[in-house]
Amino acid sequence: MKKQYFTVGPSQLFFSVESHMKSALKNDIASISHRSKEFSAVVQSTVEKLRVLFDLPDSHHIAFTASATEIWERLIQNTVENESFHLINGAFSEKFARVARNYNINVQTAEADYGSCVDIEKILVPESTELIAITHNETSTGAAYPEDDIYKLAEAFAEQIIAVDMVSSAPAAKLDWKFVDTAYFSVQKAFGLPAGLGIWIYNDRCLEKSQELLNRQKIIGSYHSLPEIKKFMDKFQTPETPNMLNIYLLNKVIGDMLALGIDRIRRETVYKSAVLYQAIEENNDLTAFVKDDRYKSKTTIVAESSRALEIREAMKKRHMILGSGYSQYKNDHIRIANFPTHSKEQIEMLADFLIKA
Ligand SMILES: *Cc1c(COP(=O)(O)O)cnc(C)c1O
Repeated sequence: MKKQYFTVGPSQLFFSVESHMKSALKNDIASISHRSKEFSAVVQSTVEKLRVLFDLPDSHHIAFTASATEIWERLIQNTVENESFHLINGAFSEKFARVARNYNINVQTAEADYGSCVDIEKILVPESTELIAITHNETSTGAAYPEDDIYKLAEAFAEQIIAVDMVSSAPAAKLDWKFVDTAYFSVQKAFGLPAGLGIWIYNDRCLEKSQELLNRQKIIGSYHSLPEIKKFMDKFQTPETPNMLNIYLLNKVIGDMLALGIDRIRRETVYKSAVLYQAIEENNDLTAFVKDDRYKSKTTIVAESSRALEIREAMKKRHMILGSGYSQYKNDHIRIANFPTHSKEQIEMLADFLIKA
């Protein structure tokens, strides 16, 4: 029996990836020149599909990187000269702050207990802050901000660049780009693709900031500075030889998602998360790690249990691979991915087992 991966990343491949891999090989995608018309057409089509999927306005642009981790570094290099502010409520938001500290800039934070989110109404951000970083879905804990919180933050701090980590919330999350200057994700989470490709959405404001820093002789990085990326992407190319196979696969998977209907995917995400939280409630040995309903993630369901390890082992015997807890929670949590590739039937079956586990 084939294993089903409910791990949060890497995760189960999107169900059509195998056949798209075959067509990639048949079409020599990994052998043709990355400067060829043929490959630029793939890049162009991928950008266009991403624009439709996220309903991106013309003010927002797309870049390809190696990972989301890379984007953390690029964001600091390109949009921050002296000061960034980070909302921290888990390991990933903390990691971004750590990247920023490496640049010897002034890094300020607002912190929430793990399993919760920062109260947006209460934070004080110095005027001198250039970028505010928020992690939409903290994959380490299963705590997610309601979209409204992101918009409130953007309205309260209109002078700052608002950067949203949507690594494990895209594409189920629908963001209003009026409030978001930059957002990013990598493809091994909810897109169900092999790792090694990051997608960076940035607007004119980020590009202008980067150009302004460059004009003042500041270091903004070399091949993946925003002006350099933009110059190449205007021709549907990348400065370096990119992960061509994955760009091709992303194109095909987004095509499949659009054919299924992104609204349907979003509706089903909500439904499937409700099924999982219900199962956790019905099993006396499991409790949702995130207590506040407002902050319960729809894409990363986290339960705590003294039997976490045993339950994961029992599920493994049924060929269902669940995620362990992150870092210090390794043996005390179960993390379950609820991504577009996980069908309603799969989640219902998993929930049935969980209730009895
Ligand atoms: C996985 C993850 C990242 C890092 O992604 P990489 O592709 O490993 O660079 C960043 N933020 C969040 C919320 C994540 O879940």
